[in-house]
Amino acid sequence: MIYLDFAASTPVLPEVMEAMRPWFTDFYANPSSSHQMGRQAAEAIEQARTTIADEIGAYPSEIIFTSGATESNNLAIKGIAWANREKGRHIITSSIEHKCILAICHYLEREGFEVTYVDPDQEGVIHPEKVKEAIRSDTILASIHHVNNELGTIQPIEQIGALCLDRGIPFHTDAAQSFGKLDIDVDDLNIDLMSVSGHKIYGPKGIGALYIRNIRETRITPVIHGAGQEIGLRGGTMATPLIVGFESALRNRNDREHINTIYSIFLEKISSVDITHNGSQKKIPNILNITISNLDSNKLFNEYKNHVSISSTSACSSASVEPSHVLKAIGLNRNASERTIRLSFGIQSSTEEITTITNLIKTSLKHE
Ligand SMILES: *Cc1c(COP(=O)(O)O)cnc(C)c1O
Repeated sequence: MIYLDFAASTPVLPEVMEAMRPWFTDFYANPSSSHQMGRQAAEAIEQARTTIADEIGAYPSEIIFTSGATESNNLAIKGIAWANREKGRHIITSSIEHKCILAICHYLEREGFEVTYVDPDQEGVIHPEKVKEAIRSDTILASIHHVNNELGTIQPIEQIGALCLDRGIPFHTDAAQSFGKLDIDVDDLNIDLMSVSGHKIYGPKGIGALYIRNIRETRITPVIHGAGQEIGLRGGTMATPLIVGFESALRNRNDREHINTIYSIFLEKISSVDITHNGSQKKIPNILNITISNLDSNKLFNEYKNHVSISSTSACSSASVEPSHVLKAIGLNRNASERTIRLSFGIQSSTEEITTITNLIKTSLKHE
């Protein structure tokens, strides 16, 4: 089985597994307990919090652990919306956010909020000018992702954040695809809230974090009420093993050069095939979104489905499934969407796998 879907999830690295193990089996006390074993777990959590804060130029106290980027996005958007609804009810986001952001915004619309969905250009870029045009006197939040999960495109969030800062509007970014891969400094990029996830960077599933600038002065309502954990912003017994694993994954990442190599090998091996790159030049190398002329997508996805894990991001087997909202937003029609694939490379991707996948693509071409 060839796995080329690392943007969807990654395996847990062996060293991450080892780092987590004792926190499952030996040091299992509740980190909120005041006894020695509890304090030991709490210390491990605080160390992880510091590592994550250091990675993004934040204070440890500004990091809240959650179950992943989806929950962080919920806390950021619903939390800010509910706490500031007397100030205004308008939110700005984009039409190419991750599905969970769109679902949160649709929920808030049903609850009486208004949402402006800024469209990208044909390269999938959200222009700061368009965000600026969308700002109203009652705008209480702007949320624009950092790296697009289908295209790999890097958004100009520094500029978007700057204009939000100018207007005193909190700026949130979903950084699930960039955290641990790109250098992020929340001050340089003008970020007020940022969602990150463990399982996109070779950590375990079920752990993530939300960065909140000036956390104690920020008006934000919890989504999960509990027994006071995470300064009352996120209830539930803290997942010590997962948090330790998250930290370990962040420390161990060293795949940047390997991914660049794999990416160039793929481009070289696919060069004889007529493809169009979707997205802008400004992208991360681990995600590749291409539309392939003459692709028999049915063949690629059905005949080979037991051999390759790649993302079609669109309707390929069933006519009832809609093409991806991202591909639609950048202007691809149904026919082009059906010939489009997203490949995402990872630490385990090998030259042999790239050779195999490019050969499979070549044998999946229709020859008129
Ligand atoms: C994967 C992903 C999410 C969801 O993250 P979970 O940790 O699985 O909840 C959200 N946003 C983006 C951009 C993602 O790539």
